[in-house]
Amino acid sequence: MNHANEAAARHSAALPGPLAEERAHRLIRSIGARMTAPRARVLAELLRAGEALTHLDLQRRVEHDAEPIDRVTLYRVLDWLADSGLAHRVAGPDRVFRFSVHSTAVPHGHFRCVHCDRMYCMKEAGALARSMREMLPDGFTGEQVEVTVSGLCAECAAAH
Ligand SMILES: [Zn+2]
Ligand SMILES: [Zn+2]
Repeated sequence: MNHANEAAARHSAALPGPLAEERAHRLIRSIGARMTAPRARVLAELLRAGEALTHLDLQRRVEHDAEPIDRVTLYRVLDWLADSGLAHRVAGPDRVFRFSVHSTAVPHGHFRCVHCDRMYCMKEAGALARSMREMLPDGFTGEQVEVTVSGLCAECAAAH
């Protein structure tokens, strides 16, 4: 892992392998849901990633497993993760949904790298949500703030 990779991983709180498996099991148990191998496997993969992944990204990561997860099961698991609040969806510029387990509980923006096309969750945006409220006309209630910043990720910036 080079320096930029390391910095990116730290920033988005990616977890190394064994820790990710352990955390995945703990998270699924903590919401009282049924534990299945595909749920634990996909959630661990998302925890390990540190960036938002598409269905296809995930498919590629699990298709060489001893017990591969088929397309339909993967779609179902991803929907379940999003509906249960363990992960969230974010649409990329191509309108394809990415899934992320980072910053799930708090409002936050996303970062898209224009060079490698990867998407990352940004830090909690309490200040952003507050200033959005100030920008709203009287009597309006905002429910969601969606912000996507484009630019170069640490890895691509270092390579330029
Ligand atoms: Zn990049
Ligand atoms: Zn996010």
